[in-house]
Amino acid sequence: MFLIPCPWCGPRDQREFKCGGEAHIVRPRLPADLSDDEWGDYVFMRKNPKGVHHERWVHAHGCRRWFHMARNTATDRILAVYRIGEGPPAIDAAQSPTPCGEPAVGSGQTPVEGPANR
Ligand SMILES: [Zn+2]
Repeated sequence: MFLIPCPWCGPRDQREFKCGGEAHIVRPRLPADLSDDEWGDYVFMRKNPKGVHHERWVHAHGCRRWFHMARNTATDRILAVYRIGEGPPAIDAAQSPTPCGEPAVGSGQTPVEGPANR
């Protein structure tokens, strides 16, 4: 168990929250103008890094408000919580390394190919 600091309610048990995926995904202005590949990238492709990641969360069993969280996915350390509409705070990724210094994507044993790594 760990505590998540809701920007409105304060620290609460993680079981009260739901993750809504990667934060700061910008919807295309004219979706009809996108190719199938571009639309597929917008809908399905996410970074999923090992390390610092900005995510959307909702306090589902509390105030039911959405907010953003910067979290180290390798350690579950919460680096910042900020409200929707606020820009992400500056976070020095070097201050929150993965436990063994692995690369941000993949296991560290084999290279990972994909659009997120280009
Ligand atoms: Zn709340």
